[in-house]
Amino acid sequence: MGEDRLDAAGRWWTWCRLSSTAPERILAPHDPDEVAAVVSDAAAQGTRVKMVGSGHSFTDVALTDGWMLTPTNLTGVRAVDRDAMAVTVLAGTPLHVLNTALADLGLSLHNMGDIDRQTVAGAISTGTHGTGGVRASLAAQVTALELATADGVLRRVSPSDDPPLFEAARLGLGAVGVVTAVTVEVEPAFTLEAVEEPLPWASAVGGFDQIVEENHHVDMYWFPHTDRVFVKRNNRTLDPPRPLPAWREWLEDRFLSNTVFGWVTTAGAVVPPLRPGLNRLSSRAWAGRTYSDRAHRVFTAPRTVVFREMEYAVPREAGMLALTEARRLIERSGWRIGFPVEVRAAPADEVWLSTAYDRDSVYLAFHVDARSDHRAYFAGVEEVMRAHDGRPHWGKLHTRGAADLAPSYPRWGDFAQVRDRVDPDRIFANPYLERVLGP
Ligand SMILES: Cc1cc2nc3c(=O)[nH]c(=O)nc-3n(C[C@H](O)[C@H](O)[C@H](O)COP(=O)(O)OP(=O)(O)OC[C@H]3O[C@@H](n4cnc5c(N)ncnc54)[C@H](O)[C@@H]3O)c2cc1C
Repeated sequence: MGEDRLDAAGRWWTWCRLSSTAPERILAPHDPDEVAAVVSDAAAQGTRVKMVGSGHSFTDVALTDGWMLTPTNLTGVRAVDRDAMAVTVLAGTPLHVLNTALADLGLSLHNMGDIDRQTVAGAISTGTHGTGGVRASLAAQVTALELATADGVLRRVSPSDDPPLFEAARLGLGAVGVVTAVTVEVEPAFTLEAVEEPLPWASAVGGFDQIVEENHHVDMYWFPHTDRVFVKRNNRTLDPPRPLPAWREWLEDRFLSNTVFGWVTTAGAVVPPLRPGLNRLSSRAWAGRTYSDRAHRVFTAPRTVVFREMEYAVPREAGMLALTEARRLIERSGWRIGFPVEVRAAPADEVWLSTAYDRDSVYLAFHVDARSDHRAYFAGVEEVMRAHDGRPHWGKLHTRGAADLAPSYPRWGDFAQVRDRVDPDRIFANPYLERVLGP
């Protein structure tokens, strides 16, 4: 969490170690009232203040040189409402802690992304999403929030209680207040069966719509410089779970997918021309498998190879064309890309700054290992995504600014109005927010 990202010199680093900052103060408030008091003090002194999550954003969205609030002491389940099927958690609760607590209660989130190290507030604040389902993003599963606004007041907001602030704050990039507690929809715990298999590009891309229609959650990985796509289909099942044996989970999800992939990545970083051949090897090493387990154990996997990432949401109908154009660009560019491109699908949602706002979407995620210069690759692919009215993930690398993002978001003006109302002096701002939201 917050402190884990601090080095001996007191600098706070993001997970991918692309950015760091030396905050004026680092504070770890113990409860929501203390958060509100700290925000009030910061405002009185004209100092900027920001709470970080677990630092897993690739962008500078969480950085501050003012007062950095860390979430370490703001964790745990506060309330379980089985009638409403909703759970209220303190904002700094890591997702893996929430998942375990929910499992103990016989409950589960509806959907989530592919790791569980983020905090609840950090994840919702940048629009963290999974794939498929009725809702893909965590923010869309939020039904109420508690947050401290710049006036030092602790507010509880929901669709019936200050709905504009609720809509802005449930995916607010930290720009409208410090979230102290989050109420999120839950459902009875369920089992997912995962069927994973490699497919030729033509079958995976040509059959994408059908695969997505026929399965609850679809995740695909295309290995650049190859014709192979690794397809994961996760579907709900009422059958008893058949998890992978512990040795196989360790071998495949930790050793092969992380340790060995880390060696392959290192070899590719040292000798980039090797990457196409290494990708062919990696794509063949990913054999098919079928297993089932509690949902959160199927949705997420450990990620120990550090990388940099850009991800765009494009309208669902443009998804495979955008992917094909990105492939053509990679093939004619001479770049040697050692990481797969991840493809996910998401239903439209109603969260104002969600990358899936009001449109069914395909997410296309591009990665390089943490030692590689991502700029030419990401800039080239970004042009392709822009041409399809792509919306960049707020927590992943991109070069867009407020002026050219605004036309993509129909509720941009509403968000700006809320921001002006609750943070007129911009105590929650930082340079990234000034770039993407405006001053
Ligand atoms: C290995 C890896 C895998 C990933 N997988 C996915 C994925 O599958 N899907 C996906 O969509 N994204 C994914 N991401 C991106 C990640 O989920 C987001 O960047 C997320 O925001 C990180 O959460 P965090 O807790 O680390 O927050 P941070 O990165 O620390 O902060 C993110 C933002 O949240 C704000 N914030 C944090 N806490 C509060 C609070 N209490 N009140 C107000 N604002 C707050 C911060 O100020 C900042 O603006 C992945 C990232 C990594 C590194």
